[in-house]
Parts: sequence; C-alpha cells; structure tokens
Amino acid sequence: MSNPLLSNWDTPFEIAPFAEISDEDFAPALEQALADHAAQIEQIATNPEPPSFANVIEALETPCRALEQVLGVFFTMAGADSNPRREELQREFSPKLAAHFSAITANKALYARVKAVWDQRDALDLTPEQQRVLMLTHRGFVRGGAALEGAADLRMQEIKARLATLGTQFTQNLLADERSWFLALSEEDLEGLPAFVVDAARAAGAEKGCDGPVVTLSRSLITPFLQFSPRRELREKAFRAWAARGANGGDTDNLAIAAEILALRQERARLLGYDSFAAYKLETEMAGTPEAVRKLLMDVWGPAKAQADADAEVLTQMMRADGINGDLQPWDWRYYAAKRRQAEHDLDEAALKPYLQLDRMIEAAFACANRLFGLEFAPLDVPLYHPDCRAWEVTRNGAHVAVFIGDYFARGSKRSGAWCSAMRQQAKFPEKQTPVVINVCNFAKGDPALLSWDDARTLFHEFGHALHQMLSDVTYESISGTSVARDFVELPSQLYEHWLEVPEVLQEFATHAETGAPMPQEMLDKVLGAANFDMGFQTVEYVASALVDLAFHDGAAPADPMVKQAEVLAEIGMPDAITMRHATPHFAHVFAGDGYSSGYYSYMWSEVMDADAFAAFEEASGAFDPERAKALEEHILSTGGSADPAELYTAFRGRLPGVEALLKGRGLAAE
Ligand SMILES: [Zn+2]
Repeated sequence: MSNPLLSNWDTPFEIAPFAEISDEDFAPALEQALADHAAQIEQIATNPEPPSFANVIEALETPCRALEQVLGVFFTMAGADSNPRREELQREFSPKLAAHFSAITANKALYARVKAVWDQRDALDLTPEQQRVLMLTHRGFVRGGAALEGAADLRMQEIKARLATLGTQFTQNLLADERSWFLALSEEDLEGLPAFVVDAARAAGAEKGCDGPVVTLSRSLITPFLQFSPRRELREKAFRAWAARGANGGDTDNLAIAAEILALRQERARLLGYDSFAAYKLETEMAGTPEAVRKLLMDVWGPAKAQADADAEVLTQMMRADGINGDLQPWDWRYYAAKRRQAEHDLDEAALKPYLQLDRMIEAAFACANRLFGLEFAPLDVPLYHPDCRAWEVTRNGAHVAVFIGDYFARGSKRSGAWCSAMRQQAKFPEKQTPVVINVCNFAKGDPALLSWDDARTLFHEFGHALHQMLSDVTYESISGTSVARDFVELPSQLYEHWLEVPEVLQEFATHAETGAPMPQEMLDKVLGAANFDMGFQTVEYVASALVDLAFHDGAAPADPMVKQAEVLAEIGMPDAITMRHATPHFAHVFAGDGYSSGYYSYMWSEVMDADAFAAFEEASGAFDPERAKALEEHILSTGGSADPAELYTAFRGRLPGVEALLKGRGLAAE
C-alpha cells in the first residue's frame, strides 16, 4: 500500500487525508521525503548549465511536495494532538531535520552557484520580489557560514556544537533549581490566599510528596502567592529563592555558562565578518541596528520609570498604613499592587465570562475580517485530525482564498499556549497554491464554551496571524505570509487584538449567554482599565531585561555578565523595588538558545507598531476605515517578506512608527 503522506491528495482543497494516516506512516514517509529533497538539492548543486536565477534560486524555491506534506501533517499533530509514539517520533525527527538543513547550508557547490547568481544580480533584470528572494537566499548561506573555509569553517562548527550544549545545560540547570526548591506552608500561612492559589499550593504539595501545601518556583504559583500572601517574611523567602534561580552555586549554577555563551557568540559573529553579535542578529530584523533598538527602549524607559516611581510612592503609603516601616521591597510590590487593583478596578472575572462565548467571539473575528477585507467564511465539512477541529472555506467575491481550521479546546494531548501555523502556505510559483491555515488554542470546554478576556484576546491575536497567511499574495513560498522578520511578525496579530476592544464589536458580539444582553459599558471600562494596571512596573521590569540583553551582545563580550548587568541597571537608574523580569542566571530567552538573544526587545518593538498602526485607523474615520484597511492589506498583510519591513510599514503609514501611541495605550504618556 502506498504511504498516504506521500500520495497526491485528492481531497477537497487538498487538505491532508487525516483519516487514512497512521502513526506508522510518518517515519518511512520522512525518510523518503528527505531523500527526495536531498536529490533535488544535489541536482541544483551539480547542474552543468551556467548558474541562473531560474536554475538556482527558483529551483530552490520549488517546493518538495513530499517533504511539505509530511512536515505539515506531522508538526500539526505533534503539537495539537500528541501521544507517546508521536513524542518519540519528534525526538527522532529533530536531529535528522537539523542535520538535513544544515547540510544544505554547508553544501559548497550549491553555495558557489548561489554566489555566482548573486554576483551577477545587477545584470539579471529581476523583479523587486526576485531581488529580495535572491538577497535573502544568499544572506542565509553567508550567515550560516557557507563562505567560511579551512580553520575558520572548523572553528564555526565547534562553536555551534558548543553553543547547543551550553544552551541545553542552561535550561536543565534552571529546571533543576526550579524543581528542587519549595517552601512548606502551614494552614495559617494560607491566610489571605484566594481559593485557586490554595488549591494550586495543595496540589503542588501532593506532587512533592509533602503532607501540606507548598509554594514552588513555578510562575503560575509563585506570582499569585507574591500577590496575595499578607505574610511579608514568607514573601521575602519565596521571592529570594525565585530571584536566585540559576545562581545558587554548585552544579546547577549558570553564571559561567552565560559568560561562555556570550564569548562564543561574539567569536561567531566576528568569524562571519560582523562587529558584534548584536550587529549580526539585528541585520535580519526591522530594527536593523543596536542603536535603533536602544533608542526605542530608552524612549519608553523614561516615562515608564516616572510612572513606576510615582506608583512606588503610593504603594509605600499603603505599606505604612499596614504598620510596616523601611523601604518598599521587590517582595512587596506585587502584594500592594494587587490590593490597589482590587480597590480601584474591582473586575469580577466570573461576571464577565458569560458575555464572552467562544462561538460569538469567532463570529466577531470573522465579522471584522469581513468589514475590513471583504472575506467570507463558510463552514466546511471535512475530516480533520481531531473531532474538536472545525474548518471554514474563506472566499472573497465568490473566489476561493484559503481554508481556515480552528482547534480551540484544551486537551491532554495538546501542548500549552496558542499558535497559528500553515499546513500549506500561499505561493504562485511554480503554480498557484492557496493556504491552509490553522489556529490552535487551549480554551476550556463548556456548553456554551465561555472565554476569559485574555482568551478572547488570544483568539483575535491568532486570527491576526491567520489573516497574514490567508491574505498573502506573493510569488515565492519562502517569503509568503508570516515568513518575515521576528520583530515584524507580531504586527498583524497584535494589531488585530485592537478590534476586540472596539465598542461596536463588543456591543454586537459580547452578548450574555443566557439573557442575550450586550456587555454593559461599565464592565467594558473596567476590563480595559484593568488591562493597563501597573504598567509602570511591567514596562520597567521588561525594558530593563531588554537593555541588559542588548548590552551583552553589543561590543566585546563581558568577562562577568553579572558585573555588566549591574552597570546597565545603575546607568538607567533601576528602581530599588523592581527587579529585571528575567535576570541573567535564569534569562532563558537569551541563553537557552539563540532565538531571542539581542532580540528580547522585539515584543515591545511589535507593540509600538501595533499601537501606532491602529492609531492610523483612529486618525482616519475609525476602526473600519476602508482606505486604511485597503492600505493594511496592500502593504502589510499581502506582502509577506517580499520587501524590507521598514519600507512596508512606511508605505502603509507614511512614516516609521513612533512610541507615542504605545505610551498612550499603556497609560504612560505625560499628562
Ligand atoms: Zn503571536
């Protein structure tokens, strides 16, 4: 019998025939697909014809159908509906795939042909999109070390291998510290804690084999403990242990590892011809340079610190009223901030939920896309990988645009979080292919299913990513949809969250599950007010981490990262009662792998853009301004990575983004 993962899919819209696929099909299909792809690459590398855009770059852009089918199905199911066999396969596949793709970058004959096309680029009469794909392909090879030879090449391999080992050690040390520490609580110590924290503490105690409840260093337990426990000495103990993760000396200490990682990254960047690791990393980002990142962060830092200082005054007064003298400490902030929030906002999540029905919120997300972009959604009855999945055909003016799949409910077989992926990406080369896009969330089931405010935002967020895939209109797959710079990819998703907050959208779709009444204005005001609460603190702890990350990678690697961290914090005047969101010994974003190294800023970069982009609608006729919607699709949602993100944004907005809208949105703008 032929392997269903490798056959031609004769299904509606060529959606994978999930019902025919068994777990035993994956491994042989991957073997075959990797062999097919390797053969395709070898043919391009050894082609006797002189190198041309068509026989090198377009040949590389030609999708290997088998590989795309296998990976699309496997990673969808491994993430959203796993089982022990699929987990085992994932462990087997990861190193195989890593080896396969690094062999392509390391293929000298292939690189020589890419470089030959690159060197004659001015004489080739390419379209702007072709020029972009050529530039990105060439740059990808160079950044991967393809141009290195001899000793430099060998050293690069050593550095990469050592960095991978160090990143894993860093993570494992952190996990070990988080697992080994806990604080036993007596029944009296539970005073003041809400029921969900008490339950979590008892469950954690049972898991640790203790008689009673405990606090652990899991963020979901320690954060509410610090918010609600009135026992200051316990908060201090717990906070100190949390802050010391990765810096407890002995086998699990991360400080030497962090220093070695920074030195190796610097050496790697130098070998590739860059001044610093930050210059190397930021080259592919919209920000472009360390200077641009620093400017953005410092533009936000001043107003954030001013707000945090003012809040510290208020919280100190509250502490005095409790009869405590001395200074407000990091283990006091969350506790008094939570008290203040309760007094000022008093948002009752339980009363809010009936207004946020999952089905109505899906309708709301679709209705906004209809008003903005003319998209229509019709339910599609096709077999998918799990009965909870739903599919829609997306059309515009009667023409097929995409298939959208929603997999919204939490279950044991799904990893946590929420994400958007494309089982097939939009492209026009070598032939037209329309996208199959999936949103996966972890909402609680119910009848009807009800969402929290955060859940509803997540639904809109992931749908924003889905629009970026579905409205993509480029020629080549490698730059399609969300294949854009890391600090640009969250723009469509975070921007789409703003439509959830549009009063007329909530009026129509946030209706009570039993009475059908729209959400009262007073409740909406509270929701929006609570969302901005304690933004001085949140912005300060985040920006401090981002500035330290940048300082680590911009210029020579620090001999002692903790000294460097202290210098940066002193220079910016870090408030005494706030610590970095992630301090160096447990800054996994930066040290566990390469993903967010000198890239931690990118969350805020995207937020600056989404606030500024939504302001463009508000400055025009409002959230559904047709001209702005058209410009958003034309310059951002349809363009993928076909041009430089700064150019795309400027085409949409008429200028680059400024921080004003973000400061206003976070309640940090000067009065
Ligand atoms: Zn996102």
